[in-house]
Amino acid sequence: MAKEAMSKKEYKNPGGIRKRMDENSRPRSWNIQCEFPANLLLEPTNLCNHACLMCANSKGAKKGGMIDRELAKRILKEAYELGTREVGFYGMGEPLLNKNLEEYIAYAKQLGYEYTYITTNGALLSEERARALLEAGIDSVKFSINAASPDLYYLIHGKDEFDTVIRNLIEFDSLRKRQERNTALYISYIATRYTASDKEKFKRNYQGYADDIVFLDCRSSGDMADELDAYLSAGADTDGLFKSGICPMIFNKLHVTYDGCLSMCCDDLQNYLAVADLKEESLEEAWNNAYARDLRKRHLEHNLKGTRCFNCMNHCNGPIEPLNPKLAVYIDSKRWNKEQEIRTRIDKWEQYKRRQETAGLER
Ligand code: SF4
Repeated sequence: MAKEAMSKKEYKNPGGIRKRMDENSRPRSWNIQCEFPANLLLEPTNLCNHACLMCANSKGAKKGGMIDRELAKRILKEAYELGTREVGFYGMGEPLLNKNLEEYIAYAKQLGYEYTYITTNGALLSEERARALLEAGIDSVKFSINAASPDLYYLIHGKDEFDTVIRNLIEFDSLRKRQERNTALYISYIATRYTASDKEKFKRNYQGYADDIVFLDCRSSGDMADELDAYLSAGADTDGLFKSGICPMIFNKLHVTYDGCLSMCCDDLQNYLAVADLKEESLEEAWNNAYARDLRKRHLEHNLKGTRCFNCMNHCNGPIEPLNPKLAVYIDSKRWNKEQEIRTRIDKWEQYKRRQETAGLER
């Protein structure tokens, strides 16, 4: 049984986000019939209060919603009984929009999960929510802050909330220290051509409030590679992420979407990598069902053309088919026009900057 095969030591708080990221990129096995994973990502909602330019979610292919409460608890229990010991509560959306979040974290800790975590934009992390998260027993919180000044934050996140987020970051840090919690606090910063030069400034200003800051390069998992290249990428070489041509994620992590699917990917906008509806199939069956095994085989044989993974690895927007058409959601191209969204926001921002410069010259 998978549970017995796992030693507790293996799952202890790995002590630092970089180590965790590194460990997550090295699965314990590359088998098509794969050992049950140690890590679960459970998506509380796909709704988001921000609209980041580099995120495919902002014009959402799927209907927005919250995970069903009973389903969330069933998945947490099932995964724990099969040996999973870490759970992240996020996916495509902002987890703090789900009012049951703290209940899920507390339930996971009560079951025995050793590590619970979220990634949040932080805008809704009021003192009340911060206290509730700490009380529930959360082990780490990662703020996603993708600019170092209010105007660039507005450009990237689409919301004028830089000051609110920084205040929430500082208060969360202060609260965890006052309460003498072991909760870790991290920040991630996705660098675009507009914000890459501010990395050092960001680090100087905010490293005192976090255990670590991770800078990442702007990249797409296959939904908007052309748009990012044309308008946002800072030109970093991100292809090294997939040197082996095999993605570790499909061998080492469970991703449960708010609508109850098991997906092979953490940001599966359209359920194109969904392998099962967990309302009809158990987590254990789904993890090694025919769709999951087939995708792993195709990765190992480097035969991915026509899948979302091919576009992700080759950084392109080629035609793709879902693994399981019954679970897929098709994009409404009238609504989902990311290029237009990016261009409109950049144009507005540039006009605003020009007005500011002109006003400065006239003063
Ligand atoms: S799209 Fe495929 S290759 Fe890319 S991150 Fe997701 S699972 Fe991995």
